[in-house]
Amino acid sequence: MTAYSLGPLLYEGKAKRVYATDQPDLVAVEFKDDATAFNAEKRACLAGKGERNCRISALVFEWLEGRGVSTHYLGVEGDRWMLVRPVKVVPIEVVVRNVAAGSLCRQLPIAPGTPLDPPLLDLYYKHDALGDPLLTEARLERLQLVSSGQLQAISELAMAVNRGLRELFGSVDLELVDFKIELGFAADGRLLLADEISPDTCRLWDRRISDQSDRILDKDRFRQDLGGVVEAYGEVLKRVQGVCAQPRVYR
Ligand code: C5P
Repeated sequence: MTAYSLGPLLYEGKAKRVYATDQPDLVAVEFKDDATAFNAEKRACLAGKGERNCRISALVFEWLEGRGVSTHYLGVEGDRWMLVRPVKVVPIEVVVRNVAAGSLCRQLPIAPGTPLDPPLLDLYYKHDALGDPLLTEARLERLQLVSSGQLQAISELAMAVNRGLRELFGSVDLELVDFKIELGFAADGRLLLADEISPDTCRLWDRRISDQSDRILDKDRFRQDLGGVVEAYGEVLKRVQGVCAQPRVYR
């Protein structure tokens, strides 16, 4: 039996629905099977994706919590529901890159697969209609999205997440190429890691495979029409489950 009941739909995104509950300090997130890419120009429904992303995200949040990263995560319920603390989402997509791939290689003369040490931190304005443009420090200041102190906290949190994720994925032979996170402020003012961390939001390459296409275990399989998307996400889940306990059930 659960200790809450579902309230109205607050927000529907491309891959998740967010619901209020009868408790002001609790929000329920439903992971959908919908897949989108290229700012939703490409769409599909991939049966089983939501369930896998919910489980991977839950285990990753628990792993990061264990390494001192504060997150919005509270627990899971069923196969595709996550219970989280409500946050005021910072309208910035924070991308950390350990290896060059994707938009970085389209925009700069850097060959795919080039190691990036130290990792590159890229901030994008979360704005679908504008296509999530890259932010500079001057643009950030102009838009007054966050204070310089908050920006410092965001950068430090992103790097802590990167260290935790590389440790987790590296331990199961997955190379963390890059990832995107979203952050939010809780009612008490704490900056929390929010949204999800899954193969929809990370690039993960299988170190046990050398073929450039076969080793892709993330949303690039969908973006590049490589097939086997849900199977790849299942492989990530299987490996992560090998080093993490079952996600805690919210009660
Ligand atoms: O598109 P780009 O190569 O800049 O993406 C970098 C990383 O951020 C990739 O792991 C991608 O999946 C993720 N990302 C995301 N949501 C976006 C943009 C990028 O999860 N809106």
